[in-house]
Amino acid sequence: MGIVVQKFGGTSVANAERIMNVANIVTEKYKQGNNMVVVVSAQGDTTDDLIEKANEINPHPSKREMDVLLSTGEQISIALLAMAIEKLGFPAVSLTGWQAGFVTNSAHSAARIRSIQKERIEKELDQRKIVVVAGFQGLNRYDDITTLGRGGSDTSAVALAAALRADLCQIYTDVDGVYTADPRKVPTAKKLEEVTFDEMLELATLGAQVLNNRSVELAKKYNVNLEVLSSLERKPGTVVKEVVKMEKMLIKGVAKDSNVARISVMGVPDVPGIAYKIFSSLAAKNIDVDIILQSIGRENTKDIAFTVNSGNLEAAMEVCNVFKDTLGAMAVLCDDQVAKVSVVGAGMQSHPGVAATMFGALADANINIRMISTSEIKISVLIDKEKADTAVQVIHDAFIH
Ligand code: ADP
Ligand code: ASP
Ligand code: MG
Repeated sequence: MGIVVQKFGGTSVANAERIMNVANIVTEKYKQGNNMVVVVSAQGDTTDDLIEKANEINPHPSKREMDVLLSTGEQISIALLAMAIEKLGFPAVSLTGWQAGFVTNSAHSAARIRSIQKERIEKELDQRKIVVVAGFQGLNRYDDITTLGRGGSDTSAVALAAALRADLCQIYTDVDGVYTADPRKVPTAKKLEEVTFDEMLELATLGAQVLNNRSVELAKKYNVNLEVLSSLERKPGTVVKEVVKMEKMLIKGVAKDSNVARISVMGVPDVPGIAYKIFSSLAAKNIDVDIILQSIGRENTKDIAFTVNSGNLEAAMEVCNVFKDTLGAMAVLCDDQVAKVSVVGAGMQSHPGVAATMFGALADANINIRMISTSEIKISVLIDKEKADTAVQVIHDAFIH
C-alpha cells in the first residue's frame, strides 16, 4: 500500500460524465489498496469565464479580490468529485486549499507555496478516505486567499506528493503524455516515453503548457515520481524523471510562447552603466526580462532590446519611457506581435549544428529571426507571432523524423 496523488485538469472534470470517469479512475487505484489524494482544477473554461466576469465589472480589479473569485472554480470541482466518489460507494472528503493546509506567500495571483500543514489530510487518510483537494489555491499568513498562477493545480499536486512522500504523482490531462510539440498543433509530434526533469522544465518554461513549470521544479527538487497521462484513454503516458534511458533523439521538443513582447530602448549613450540602469529599474518593479540584445555602438550611442512577458508590457513600458529623460534615449519602442519558439534537448550541447539546422528550417520557410538566445539545453528565437505555428512545424520536421 502506498500514497498516490492524482491530478485532473479542467477538461478532465468538465461535465458530469467526465467527473464520473475521474471517480472511476481514482477508485480503481484506491481498490488496489492505495491511499488516494486527488487534486482537481476548475471545470472546463471556468477560470477564463470568471476572469471575464470580473473584467465586465472592473478591468483593473485588485489581485486580492481576483484570487477570492478564481479560487471558487476549484471549490465547485472538489465537491462534485467527492459526490461522484460517494455515489460509487467509496468514502471521500473534499478540502479547499486552506483546509488541506496550503500556506503561501502573499503574491496574489502568483503565490508560492511556503509549506503544507498536512495534519488534516493525514487524519482523513488514516480513516481510509479519498481526499479531494482544490488545486491552485492557498492562504497567506494574513488568512487571505491566494492563487498560484495559471496552471497552478499541477504545482499543488506535486507539492502534496512531495510533502506526503507519495509513491507516485499522476498528472491526468487531455493528451496522453508529453509530446515533442503540442500534438494539437503539430500532427507529426511524437509521444515521449520518458523525459528528464531538466528537459521538461525547459519545455514547460518555454511554453509547453502540459505541465506547469513550477510543478516540474518541485518534482526535481524532491525527486517526485511523476507521470503525465490521459484521463480519457487508458494507456501509458510519459514518465518525468532525473535520468532517462540513453536514446538517439537529440531534440526532445519544440515549444512556443506567444505571451511575449519586445521592448527596444533606442539611442542610449554608449558608456558603462547603461544596461545596469535599465535592468535594475525593471528588477525594482519585479519585471522579469528574458532575451536581451545590445547593438554595436555607433556615434557614441547604442540600442538595447529585450523581451518581457506580455502581462508585464504595460509596466515595463512605464519604466522605460522614463529613460527618454534620464538616459537621453531617443525612442522606446514596443512590439507585442512576436512569439518565442524554442528547441529543447539535453544532448544538443555536444552536437554542433543544432542552431544551423534550426535557422536553416526557418530560412527555408522565409521566417525572419528577430532575436536569438541559447543555453546548453535550448535555443530560442523571437519571430513574428503570425508565423509561430509554421515555425514550430518546420523546426519540428527538421529535427524529428
Ligand atoms: P489541464 O487542463 O489538464 O491542466 P492543459 O490545457 O493545461 O491541461 O495542458 C494540456 C495541453 O497542453 C494539451 O491539450 C496540449 O494542447 C498542450 N501542450 C502544449 N505542448 C505540449 C506538449 N509538448 N505535449 C503535450 N501537450 C502539450
Ligand atoms: N484553474 C486554474 C487555471 O485555469 C488552475 C489550473 O487549472 O491548474 O489556470
Ligand atoms: Mg494545466
